[in-house]
Amino acid sequence: MGKANGPNAGTGIFEDAIKRLDKAFEYAEIDAEALEKLKHPKAILEVSIPVRMDDGSLNIYTGYRVRHDDTRGPTKGGIRYHPGVSLGEVKALAFWMTCKCAAVGIPFGGGKGGIIVNPKEMSALEIERMSRGFIDRIADFIGPETDIPAPDVYTNAMIMGWMMNQYSIIKRQHTPAVITGKPIPLGGSLGRDDATGRGAYYCIKELEKRREWNPGDITVAVQGFGNAGQHVARLLHADGYRIVAVSDSKGGMYREQGFDVPSLMQNKNESRVLRAVYCKGALCELVEADQITNEQLLELDVDILIPAALENVLTKSNAKKVKAKIIIEVANGPTSSEADEILTERDVLIVPDILANAGGVTVSYFEWVQNKAGYYWELEEVQERLHTIMSREFNAIYDMMVEKKIDSMRTAAYAHALTRLGAAVESTGTAKYYKNN
Ligand code: GLU
Repeated sequence: MGKANGPNAGTGIFEDAIKRLDKAFEYAEIDAEALEKLKHPKAILEVSIPVRMDDGSLNIYTGYRVRHDDTRGPTKGGIRYHPGVSLGEVKALAFWMTCKCAAVGIPFGGGKGGIIVNPKEMSALEIERMSRGFIDRIADFIGPETDIPAPDVYTNAMIMGWMMNQYSIIKRQHTPAVITGKPIPLGGSLGRDDATGRGAYYCIKELEKRREWNPGDITVAVQGFGNAGQHVARLLHADGYRIVAVSDSKGGMYREQGFDVPSLMQNKNESRVLRAVYCKGALCELVEADQITNEQLLELDVDILIPAALENVLTKSNAKKVKAKIIIEVANGPTSSEADEILTERDVLIVPDILANAGGVTVSYFEWVQNKAGYYWELEEVQERLHTIMSREFNAIYDMMVEKKIDSMRTAAYAHALTRLGAAVESTGTAKYYKNN
């Protein structure tokens, strides 16, 4: 399994990801040592996980866990199950987590994990054995005070519950704070399920205030109808935005009048199929819509484009064809650095991933705090605190972009994150300090 992914595969993604730092460095006024430190992940673990399949055969899967930087706190970040996982990708994702936690000011560093696997081809029991097997392998690498995993692409609350349970068995101690995104009865936080989409929604609401548009006039296309994409679409739809296109890994659909998002969610979550439907109670009827590809969706003439699936979907080959004037990056790393330059030159406003999708890790932080306190918050408290953080950091980054005449919100977000990271690194002493003492 997974030979094509190999240990050196995906190196380019990490190299491309860290390029963003150099540009932001100009505006961050921090010691160059901090910058250098961030270019090297702290620790990398590769494991093989033998899994007994339902038919009695044995499959061996490759998994990774990367701890990128823990200067500001324990490393934090999800675990993805995907056939395209590679070490380079996990390194890039861990790096983005470091920047994301610093961008929104939560006291974590960045980590990430992944297994090269297609979970859609496995039974629930096979997935459970593999998840527990992964924790057996990485148990000494993670922990509530060192590295705290969470869900990511194709992993969910139930998997987090199995992992927490397996870790607790190994340590012989109930340890809910080792992982976030758990089911509520196992110590999960209210409001974690829609937190990523909600965080992106709060960013759009801040833009709405600044640009003074009327939601009814704004068309939106969402690429990826998984957990994050569904919820941002649902919240925008409830406010009157017109969600004219959505897609999943099998393809997309377009409808000029817009879709009834709750109906699409109901149907997708029951049947796993994305269909143009309008539902009343349990009864769903098909409505007219054009079938489109994921590529076509990205090039639609809409006001807001929301890539909410995987990385590198906007590249130098399609960036010129993107018609949306606003891009909200709900996925991690959907825009390559080349595409970024083209889009920025064309005056497209990109709300970058390290801000737009930070709602997930922010509520993960709340979950960890609640687990450690053994005291659980009401949903309103979770949402209010999330709103405070997202709007505060959105505005700080936007204002920095305007005040320092930075050409993109991405560079401003990295500069904002680097300022916090730099301050933490500098507090531990850099060459400048030691040479003067
Ligand atoms: N996987 C999510 C992300 O990329 C959540 C991470 C977390 O909650 O720790 O931000």
